[in-house]
Amino acid sequence: MRKVLKFGGSSMASAAQYAKVKAIVESDDSRSVVVVSAAGKQSPEDHKVTDLLYLCYAHMKYGVSVDSVFNMISARYLQIRDGLGLHTDLESELARIRADMDEGISEDELASRGEYLSARLMADYLGFDFVDATEWLQFKLDGSVDKEVSYAALRSLAEGRKIVTPGFYGRGADGSIRTFSRGGSDITGAFAAAALDAEVYENWTDVSGILMADPRIVENPEPIPRVTYAELRELSYLGAKVLHEDTIFPVAEKNIPLNIRNTNDPAQPGTIIRDRFDEDETEEGHRFITGIAGKPDFSVLSLSKKGLSSEIGKMRKVFEIFEAHGIAVEYTPNGIDTVSLVVATQQLKKKESSLAAALQEALDPDRLEFTDGIAIVAAVGRKMANRPGITGQIFSALGSEGINIRLISQGPREVNIIFGVDNRDFKAAVRVLYNSFVK
Ligand code: ASP
Repeated sequence: MRKVLKFGGSSMASAAQYAKVKAIVESDDSRSVVVVSAAGKQSPEDHKVTDLLYLCYAHMKYGVSVDSVFNMISARYLQIRDGLGLHTDLESELARIRADMDEGISEDELASRGEYLSARLMADYLGFDFVDATEWLQFKLDGSVDKEVSYAALRSLAEGRKIVTPGFYGRGADGSIRTFSRGGSDITGAFAAAALDAEVYENWTDVSGILMADPRIVENPEPIPRVTYAELRELSYLGAKVLHEDTIFPVAEKNIPLNIRNTNDPAQPGTIIRDRFDEDETEEGHRFITGIAGKPDFSVLSLSKKGLSSEIGKMRKVFEIFEAHGIAVEYTPNGIDTVSLVVATQQLKKKESSLAAALQEALDPDRLEFTDGIAIVAAVGRKMANRPGITGQIFSALGSEGINIRLISQGPREVNIIFGVDNRDFKAAVRVLYNSFVK
């Protein structure tokens, strides 16, 4: 069976990084399909090629000369090619792109050229065949990927070959080049893995897996060895960011494991993501928290009224009002005669009074109040289910550090325990959880 590998921008940033990629690919014969990003930053002060391409487009739009920015892009790729001693005819490729720019290239097509050039070079360097993404990744009119057409095309193109294909773009319904949103090469890799029923989708980046907590809050957090798709959704929704959020759907659908690995430290096993882990049942004494995530700046709207619990249709009315105001409700931790809705404060901007008026009219509550400055923290872990006492342990750890819990929400699947604290207690709450249950 084959493995599909995707290398992100930092793995494609220089000739030295290409050499690491080659060593990784060549160490395993089943690593036969490689998806690449555009060249990323070589250092924090450097620029991503995709950013420079968007900048070129902005210059074109406003009639500013593109030459200096385009030269930076050209220089990056020529430097990589020469550093690797390759003879890829990049000069013609670059001249063609430059000529297309003068003809009025689309923004998506121009932005896609970073991945295209990376893939051309990597194919030559590895001695693999280059397969353009437009030959297999087909978008539908509604912007989603046509899986049937794309999968069949890639299956036949990859048959019996080792290939490199660019990430981030494909062919739009009208035949022109179309990109995913930023960071979308992850999605291309996931579609390629699903198309080929890969043994594993290896996503090579510059960290040794998904970390158990935000490294800006917790010092040196450990990587998560195993996480389920459901847990990952919870963690990334509340801030953990490693993959493009649409990455997991194509692989989850086919139950293909996704392995996040570090190009700069390939000996590390990284994080494995899959639907479920059979060994969970037999694992003894293991941590019950998989990861900790959270975000500050939420608001809670609480509405109370005597006898509210028996009012049929109350939630529908409340939700309709939020919907009409274009506000997404994140959580609804309710009491008997109280309904509370947690929303991102940003979403409420300038809408509080009209929202309050509409709720007043529809439900005639005894009290209606907004509380701002709430941070949401989630302890995520599939192993919390069916283990009594977990919530108690978490809350007593927070209590003993003097952190006041403002709200609690736990779903019946018990993949997370979510609670709200004051913004000022946010970082401390994350640290208490980490120090009490991970360390
Ligand atoms: N190069 C594109 C971007 O920076 C896509 C990717 O790297 O995934 O957004």
